[in-house]
Amino acid sequence: MRMAQGIPDEVLMNSALIKELAEEAKDSAVTQGVLMRLQETPNSSEVVSFAPFTLFPTPVPKAVFSQALAVQTHYNTLVDKISQDADFLQEALASTITVDDFTARLFKIHQQILKEGRSQSIVLGLNRSDYMLDQRENDTPSLKQIEINTIAASFGGLSSRTPDVHRHILKMAGRLEESERILDNNPAAGLARAIAKAWELYGSEKAVVVFLVEDVQRNIFDQRYVEYELWKRNIHVIRLRFEDVFKAGSLDQDKRLFVDGKEVGVVYFRNGYMPDNYTSEQSWDARLLMERSRAVKCPDISTHLAGTKKVQQVLARPGVLERFFPDQPQAVQQIRATFAGLYTLDLGPEGDKTVSMALAAPERFVLKPQREGGGNNIYGSEICQVLEQVKESTERTAYILMDKIHPTPVRNYLMRQGSPLKISNCLSELGVFGAYVRQGKDMVTNECVGHLLRTKSSEHSDGGVAAGVAVLDNPLLF
Ligand code: ADP
Ligand code: MG
Ligand code: MG
Repeated sequence: MRMAQGIPDEVLMNSALIKELAEEAKDSAVTQGVLMRLQETPNSSEVVSFAPFTLFPTPVPKAVFSQALAVQTHYNTLVDKISQDADFLQEALASTITVDDFTARLFKIHQQILKEGRSQSIVLGLNRSDYMLDQRENDTPSLKQIEINTIAASFGGLSSRTPDVHRHILKMAGRLEESERILDNNPAAGLARAIAKAWELYGSEKAVVVFLVEDVQRNIFDQRYVEYELWKRNIHVIRLRFEDVFKAGSLDQDKRLFVDGKEVGVVYFRNGYMPDNYTSEQSWDARLLMERSRAVKCPDISTHLAGTKKVQQVLARPGVLERFFPDQPQAVQQIRATFAGLYTLDLGPEGDKTVSMALAAPERFVLKPQREGGGNNIYGSEICQVLEQVKESTERTAYILMDKIHPTPVRNYLMRQGSPLKISNCLSELGVFGAYVRQGKDMVTNECVGHLLRTKSSEHSDGGVAAGVAVLDNPLLF
């Protein structure tokens, strides 16, 4: 039924046409700026290629798409409220931080900031809530959140460039009607709008915005689109690594952050989300310096922690959402409708039940550690192997268990630099970008600023675009 709404077989199976469209699509992607640096030369723009993308857009039902957009401002509010609730974070992460060193380290920074008192009342949140459509047999698909990324959520830039590529390819394939159904999308502009607002509230004309970036910068163009939106407003952006901040950063007596003599108004983290990002103690020192400073952090350390998978699992417990929305049953209902089954592995009878449930039917679940960046989750029989090892110890509390979501596969061609063209059974994940700025108790802006569709071959159970598994896509609403 979904296939009928999408690209018909006469197009998909016409190999001469597909070959021609694929060449055309590469040129279109390059000219539209859907770009990525090469794996071999991740820090050079001398030779670059197209970022991976699907040849065709993927059908997505209008109703679930609208549902995902509509719930986003509630998710923004939720993340922001969690970040201000130290007791909740402490309780939610108590078991995790006894065994997960990375989360524990982040939590330690969070505690130090609480003790010292936050030096900045302006909060900038840029997040991406990701979903898959759970669809069994002929049921209507149901929108289920996979996770929310509160730090370094990517592809807001490149996804603003992909719609024209798909429009063009559909026109070339003689599918004018479908081509007109591809939505405009510009997350980069919305993300930059919120950064600019935070910068303005910081209140110093000469302050710069720092993009805190990784050592390996293959996906730089995605970030550039956000940067250029800031430059258009005459906001000065500099790109720094932890190392640069460690070497040249300091706080003045008012905790203003200076790097190389430049005052920093906003730090936008596009790094710092996984253990490998902290290559030395100096990286941790630099993170702490920025957190203690008066610069607006995106995210601040508590908002970072609010995006952990453990917090996601705790939120799914009865009554927890009500704590954050005491007078908004509708917000609670809208958010809860997107929750998949999430189960604790804390020590105790409830966690024991989770273990036996998973061991009895591992194919129904995903076992998740507190990690980001794709490729960390555990599936199928490996769930049993891992659980058998940790089930009697506190080590099991490093994980949460989640129901596995089953989207309907859709056939498409994945366009990757250097890969042969072949048809694949594909699964898609819809991301929705949220942006907000709070000053003290006032939500100054709270917006849904765009979407992202990522698609991967169904052979892979895990992994994002940066991990080399998923590719950029667009929804074709029906
Ligand atoms: P990360 O922070 O590493 O991106 P995710 O929770 O998004 O972690 O998981 C990575 C990938 O694993 C997702 O993009 C999706 O493809 C797959 N995945 C995660 N959770 C589920 C689930 N509950 N059902 C099916 N696939 C999932
Ligand atoms: Mg993530
Ligand atoms: Mg993810």
